[in-house]
Amino acid sequence: MIPARYGASRFPGKLMQDLGGKTVIRRTYDAAVDTGLFQDVFVVTDSDVIFEEITKHGGKAIMSQKEHECGSDRIAEAVEHMDVDIVVNVQGDEPFTTKDGLKKVLDVFYQEDADKIDLASLMTEINDWKEISDPNCVKVIVDKDNFALYFSRSPIPYPRDKNTAVKYFKHKGIYAFRKQAILDFYRLPMRKLEAAEKIECIRYLEYGHNIKMAVTKDQGVEIDTPEDLARAKRLIEKSEQPAVNNGYRNFPMVPKVVFGKGSFDQLEQILSQERKDRAPFVFIVDDVFENQPSFIDRITLKFNDKLIFASTIEEPKTSQVDEIVKKIRSEYKQLPSGIIGIGGGSILDLAKAVSIMLTNSGSASEYQGWDLVKKKAVYHVGIPTISGTGAEVSRTCVLTGPERKLGINSDYTPFDQVILDPDLCIGVPKNQWFYTGMDCFIHCVESLQGTFLNAFSQSYGEKAYDLCVEIFLGDGMPEHEARAKLMMASWHGGMSIAYSQVGVAHALSYGLGYVLGTKHGIGNCIVFNHLEEFYPEGVKLFKQMMDKHSIDLPTGICSQLTDAQMETMIDTALGLEPLWENALGDNWREIATREKLRELYLKM
Ligand code: NAD
Ligand code: ZN
Repeated sequence: MIPARYGASRFPGKLMQDLGGKTVIRRTYDAAVDTGLFQDVFVVTDSDVIFEEITKHGGKAIMSQKEHECGSDRIAEAVEHMDVDIVVNVQGDEPFTTKDGLKKVLDVFYQEDADKIDLASLMTEINDWKEISDPNCVKVIVDKDNFALYFSRSPIPYPRDKNTAVKYFKHKGIYAFRKQAILDFYRLPMRKLEAAEKIECIRYLEYGHNIKMAVTKDQGVEIDTPEDLARAKRLIEKSEQPAVNNGYRNFPMVPKVVFGKGSFDQLEQILSQERKDRAPFVFIVDDVFENQPSFIDRITLKFNDKLIFASTIEEPKTSQVDEIVKKIRSEYKQLPSGIIGIGGGSILDLAKAVSIMLTNSGSASEYQGWDLVKKKAVYHVGIPTISGTGAEVSRTCVLTGPERKLGINSDYTPFDQVILDPDLCIGVPKNQWFYTGMDCFIHCVESLQGTFLNAFSQSYGEKAYDLCVEIFLGDGMPEHEARAKLMMASWHGGMSIAYSQVGVAHALSYGLGYVLGTKHGIGNCIVFNHLEEFYPEGVKLFKQMMDKHSIDLPTGICSQLTDAQMETMIDTALGLEPLWENALGDNWREIATREKLRELYLKM
């Protein structure tokens, strides 16, 4: 029960103040519901405005009938005819109420001395003398079993002997009552000590009841003054800032990497150190290799190891991940020793996702987003056979789900081991080599021209950019050298966007991918070809590269779109806000209008 009075004496209307897009009272209500500790949560109020505010957002509220002196009276009236066991009073002005404190108060009723307890409440240690001596801060002292001895606005105990190490506790306005106790409380007239201190739980002590205090470390923020509100707003802003855009990133890197022509043959030895008893290794391999025994024979399967060929006709889907995970689970009793992905960006992403989903329950679609993965993935190894995406080094695995195309971006996503063997890219068809290679070039252009750029991304981005120019526009570079250099360019390009972001080409290309199923590499090329106004230098070089390698791109791919498809495409692209913000700065909406995007798509 959340008692909520409209007219607080010190800060009238405080519960209806805006706190980061929601009123204070609604934040408190949602916080209480979100703890998952209660069968029901109600706001009990004397105000139509507060009643409306809660009910119109789907919450439960009760109008109190009578004038009441304090919150507990308000609650007593409300629960009198309800079938309840324990009632918890959460203050309406505590929007940061957390599960920890509430759970501690409730746990009191399940401990040994529970039958002696009528009321439980919460306290937190304070050390600042300013707070200890502040009459707005109610202090509490307890006996050896944490039963309350007294509550006061004065500092208690008084520190006459400065050498006694005494702790001060602040009382937090959360109470849990047995139903009978709150009804008793309601009927008992107020006595002198309560009247003098204006602290309602003193009434209990004055009538000889027991109040058990639980201790929390959670300081919380009560909104008593406009200054408190300003402080709370800053807290909310901080907590709601996506970790992506707070200016700093703390990301893991691939801890082990082998590089070099022929290094693929190190795999057997690397895996032998990671094998757990009889738990198999599962190899997820691009099915383009299915009929290439010369390559497949180099993968040594031992004991019950398993080889799965996966198709890359379409980009990886959450359903495809779920299916592979189901297959592995049904075939083996224990978790695999590891997952090894061998292929391009599609297969590498698939392998990362499978390794995550083997230890996390539910569908892969539930983990699309930032930091939603809670459990460490199964050991996973990435072995690229085509270069450019940077998927071998990145913290994400891009998946198309039922609702969106979005990566599982988490600390557990990156590979534990990568093997970079340039010779594995020997059979890549020329067009595909170009499209995937251009993904790297475009990553660099977008990162280097972006507003998020810093020295970290720049140092990786510039190196990768130079390598791409050398590979795609240089003359006379031997093929084996070009393969090795593109492999490193892909790695550096991936590192560059780890600390910045991609831009306009990727945003528009995601739109094509979502509506038309256009694959990432070729989609980026189709888009980038028309982005002179955003990336003049990059697009000029790109056109030269196309010429030099006689690459043709499809044209008119958006000419047959229905209006609805075009709108979806524009929505998909504009939905990728960080990409636009990186590309065009804070005022990106003024440049990237719907008309602008439509015009660009129609050119493609
Ligand atoms: P891909 O993995 O789809 O492979 C492209 C084609 O090349 C496929 O037909 C494949 O069979 C073939 N191929 C691969 N290696 C070959 C070889 N050695 N010989 C012959 N054919 C070979 O394409 P991609 O461009 O590497 O990856 C695109 C995917 O990567 C997209 O799904 C995209 O979303 C994702 N991506 C992920 C990240 C990330 O950070 N995780 C970054 C960029 C892109
Ligand atoms: Zn890309």
